[in-house]
This record gives sequence, structure tokens and C-alpha cells, in this order.
Amino acid sequence: MGLLLLLHVLLVAAAATAPAADAWGKEGHYMVCKIAESFLTKEASTAVKELLPGWAGGELAETCSWADTQRFRYRWSSPLHFADTPGDCEFDYARDCHNTKGEKNMCVVGAINNYTAALKDSSSPFDPTESLMFLAHFVGDVHQPLHCGHTDDLGGNTIVVHWYRRKTNLHHVWDVNVIETAMKDFYGNDQSTMIQAIQQNITVGN
Ligand SMILES: [Zn+2]
Repeated sequence: MGLLLLLHVLLVAAAATAPAADAWGKEGHYMVCKIAESFLTKEASTAVKELLPGWAGGELAETCSWADTQRFRYRWSSPLHFADTPGDCEFDYARDCHNTKGEKNMCVVGAINNYTAALKDSSSPFDPTESLMFLAHFVGDVHQPLHCGHTDDLGGNTIVVHWYRRKTNLHHVWDVNVIETAMKDFYGNDQSTMIQAIQQNITVGN
């Protein structure tokens, strides 16, 4: 399915890369997917709509935080939201893509590979709707810079900072605070205005 590639391309344009807790908050994931949807071909869009659950109301973006809500139900999925490195800033798939038990491919890069493969393969044992929702979420996550951070600070989660007057951590600043503040200060707290502005700033061809 070419739609996966498109999804990825557009997400690269929209954001940046990855690690420990959630990744973009609800707004971030919604916006990433909303922008991604506008890049889908008609064929890809139809394929996506066919896989969406009823509660999505035909909108991929509505499902893009679903993976964060499944962390307790699917405990194995927690390490799939990030890919941290030991500190040399050079992600090495063979060395770094594993969960705390050392099981391979259990990081956001492995998850993107596996769910992409699952969506391309109609005989895959994975539920295609869940594969799509996981993929749409993880492609967003991998572009949050601190979801590809350092293992020693859990992708910035242990770095305490102040965002204006609020005490928080660096990971959360990237997930939520930057987006919230930008939306408030520059876009009148209107998500669709912010989405449009980002769309207009996407350059084609890189
Ligand atoms: Zn996530």
C-alpha cells in the first residue's frame, strides 16, 4: 500500500523524531495525522477509510492517539513508542532496538517496519485496523525528537525544566507544551488554523 509511504513522507515534513513516555500529546498526534491525510491519494484514502474503526467517524486523525490509550491493555507495546540510544546520538538498530528484556525489534523503528509489513500482507495475523492505528501513531512518535533520545535520561523524561512558570520535564515540553503554547500564542487556540499554517509551510521534494 503506497499510503504508508505517503503517510511517512508527510510526517517527515510535519515534524521531527523519539523515547520514553507518550510522544506527541493528543493534539500533536491529531495534527500529524490530519496533515498526513491530506497527502493521501484517493486510492490510499479509500484503503485507510475501509480499515478505520466505526468510532473514528471516517477520520484517521481521530485514531492517532489510540496507541497511547492501549499501553495498559497491551503492556508489550510501551517500548514501541520510542527508540533511545546509550548516548552517542547514533541509533544502531541491532544494538538499540529492543525492550527491557532484550527482545529485538521492540522499539519504534521496529514497530513501524512490522506494522508496515503487516498492512502490506493480507495474510498477516495482525489485525489490520490495529496495525493502521499503531502505524499512524508511531510514525508521529518517531518524529518527536525526544522519542529518539538518550537511555540515561529516558528521552528527556528525567530532565526537569521550567516552561515559562510551569515545572515540567523536557520530554513533556516537546510532547505537549510547545504545541499548546504555539496554538495559544499564534493561532488563537484554534487547532485547524494551526494545521493550515503548518500545511502551508510544508515544502515539497525533500
Ligand atoms: Zn506514543
